[in-house]
Amino acid sequence: MPIEFNELKQLSKEARDTSNTLRKELGEMPHKIKGNFIAFFGRQFNPEYKWNCALKPLWSGFYIKYNDLEMMVDPGINILERAERIGVNLALTNTLFISHAHIDHKNDANVVAEIVSYRKDAELNLLFSQNSLDDRAMSHYHSSSEGTNLVLLDKNNEIELYGGAKLKPIEVLHSISGAYGFVLDLNGLKIGYTGDTGFNVTYKTTDGRELSASEKITDKKEIEAPGVFNDKLKKVFSNVDILVFNLHDVEFRKHTKHNLYHSTVSDAVEVLKDSKIKHCFFEHFNPYGGGLGVEYPKKVNQYIKESTGKETTLIALNGHVLNLNNI
Ligand SMILES: [Zn+2]
Ligand SMILES: [Zn+2]
Repeated sequence: MPIEFNELKQLSKEARDTSNTLRKELGEMPHKIKGNFIAFFGRQFNPEYKWNCALKPLWSGFYIKYNDLEMMVDPGINILERAERIGVNLALTNTLFISHAHIDHKNDANVVAEIVSYRKDAELNLLFSQNSLDDRAMSHYHSSSEGTNLVLLDKNNEIELYGGAKLKPIEVLHSISGAYGFVLDLNGLKIGYTGDTGFNVTYKTTDGRELSASEKITDKKEIEAPGVFNDKLKKVFSNVDILVFNLHDVEFRKHTKHNLYHSTVSDAVEVLKDSKIKHCFFEHFNPYGGGLGVEYPKKVNQYIKESTGKETTLIALNGHVLNLNNI
């Protein structure tokens, strides 16, 4: 029997109504996680997809709910599925922090803004640097739509957020300009986030000189070893209760700029030891060990734990939730 166009019109109306009902429901739904929390979203992961397991991880992202503050940090790819899996309703987000405009930190920023628009009278504070804006951390449409408020990060300006929270942007040293971490003060509870950064002010060259890590490097083959540790960053990040540390590598790699802008295990140990940190969460390090499986990253975490005597957690494939009410 031929299909009548009227039937399509009817189905189209039903589909639209269903979709609108779901949007409304999402806009009003609480998180599945109770109370105040920090939730790490983990990875898009299925061992059957070997490229997903082995290639460069692209999946940053964690969420801080503290009273009226609903803050999404660094939404990497496939944020929708990962948020739903861990029990976070992204529509409740009122603050979106992007540390820098690399794909694993900003890819789904527009998705978050889109989902937030399902909430009635939604307001969304966007926190990123001028460099990240220039690098198109978000689309013009999503960063300037009604209810959004762009606050450019500036290392000298503390930002007042919802629920009495205060965020101090911390400028870090990464392979892209204008990269930031933060120290978030939640009525006395301090959460630090390193973002992606190296921890060396200088590096040693093959012929025994020591050069600045923040100046233009003409010959990367000269890079032999890390130099002076960045005490400023150490001081800032060792003075928090909870630290989210983006851990990239086990050791400093020679003849490449990589570890001037990305952290190593020894950087983590240096920041953690003798610090006041109660709990450190390692983000970024591939929890499937780049294809080797879960044992290797567990050993990395165990090594840092034993070297520092600190409580440490390397975020697993399925993410992790910490309740902030009992801290
Ligand atoms: Zn990066
Ligand atoms: Zn990254």
